[in-house]
Amino acid sequence: MDISFIIPAKDEEESIPELTSWISRVMQTHGFSYEVIFIDDGSSDGTWEQIKKQRESNPSIKGLKFNRNFGKAAALQVGFKEAQGEVVVTMDADLQDSPEEVPELYKMIKEQKFDLVSGWKKKRHDPISKTLPSKFFNAVTRRMSGIKLHDFNCGLKAYNSQVVKNISVYGDMHRFIPVIAKWAGFAKIGEKVVEHRERKYGYSKFGWRRLISGFLDLLTLMFVGKFAKKPMHFFGTMGILSFLFGFGFTIKILWDKMDSIYISKIPLKREVYQQPIFYLALVALVIGVQLFLTGFLADLLARQSVSKKDYLIVESV
Ligand code: UDP
Ligand code: MG
Repeated sequence: MDISFIIPAKDEEESIPELTSWISRVMQTHGFSYEVIFIDDGSSDGTWEQIKKQRESNPSIKGLKFNRNFGKAAALQVGFKEAQGEVVVTMDADLQDSPEEVPELYKMIKEQKFDLVSGWKKKRHDPISKTLPSKFFNAVTRRMSGIKLHDFNCGLKAYNSQVVKNISVYGDMHRFIPVIAKWAGFAKIGEKVVEHRERKYGYSKFGWRRLISGFLDLLTLMFVGKFAKKPMHFFGTMGILSFLFGFGFTIKILWDKMDSIYISKIPLKREVYQQPIFYLALVALVIGVQLFLTGFLADLLARQSVSKKDYLIVESV
């Protein structure tokens, strides 16, 4: 099979029929074999009935239904597991992404050998309350991940199927799939300017809160990506720094005290317990040891999960 479409849908009943007929039209024109996997993410309207209806007249349409709303990331993850096509395309169900872009995306994956191609909604049809935070979000993500994309969170993306079979997307991490893919070693990431259309039916499911949660997720992701398998490298480094800091001060305090008793015999201006650095030294030593212990515990936990695969073999002879 050439292409698998993965389409998360929450309360998109009006869009489903139009979207499916549009997709099958484009696929037929270009002669692709394809499947469309809808994931009904706990819709409360007739989305599931619509999906079932489409399935009756077109066996390429498949549907999975969550028993409640689990979020876009969970929906995508399930779709990734099910997909059978050589190229996997994700898109939104709300008709804001155009299936006409897919043949070109397919070509970029197949011929130019991109691991992942992300859509770029260069000309967006969204309110400024959405486009402005998004600009900021993209700039931060670009800096922190080193991936040169303009639009990380575009719903329309195409993947080599090997990518989606080897990454896991959870929580709200659908915004960072390119980053997750890069961590997994799929570094040939490209983008293509895509047409973005106005929402025709329904309403947007993501509010302003996306900015805060998006930023927190980014921090988690950077941390996990770097240190999940070796937490001691993070906590240990901080612990050593803190400990050395405290240790240096302790030596100085001891030295001054010895000096006042045995060498110069000039009494200290202030007693040890009256000196600020005494307290600094104390706190730094304690924190240093704490960080070290945290590192050990975290490493023990990381060891428990070695069975979870954290490498990927691409070829063997
Ligand atoms: N979506 C979903 N689960 C959710 C929220 C959204 O499956 O909890 C789907 C939604 O149906 C749509 C896509 O994710 O197909 C993008 O959502 P939306 O269009 O509301 O986001 P926006 O375009 O406003 O960023
Ligand atoms: Mg939308």
